Amino acid sequence: MKQDRAATRKAAVKRAAALCVPALALAGLALADLWICPFRAVTGVPCPCCGITRAWQALLQGHVGQAFGLHPLFWALPPVVVWLVVRSARPGAKPLRPWAAAALYGFLAVFFAVWLLRTFVWHVAA
Ligand SMILES: [Zn+2]
Repeated sequence: MKQDRAATRKAAVKRAAALCVPALALAGLALADLWICPFRAVTGVPCPCCGITRAWQALLQGHVGQAFGLHPLFWALPPVVVWLVVRSARPGAKPLRPWAAAALYGFLAVFFAVWLLRTFVWHVAA
């Protein structure tokens, strides 16, 4: 039993690392201004996440208004990502409950709607 728990825990840590290491590497590239958005490079149009890193940089420098101007939902994405990573890394992770799935899809719909408005209606160059 103890070995099963240890193996399960070890597998969970491996899954979490597999999710977190690439995410941290991308965040590091973005914060160092070395990241080039592949979606924008190919299409010429900002992706739904364009502006989030610069928004966080602005917020950390105390420019709250500028941060919301760069991406109005910059504050909402990290908690959702952390929740999904932690949840999926847990041993025996179950499918999302209906309310959680609805909340996640609702968040994604709002995120997508904001992207459409910013890109094609307001023409914000993130
Ligand atoms: Zn982008």
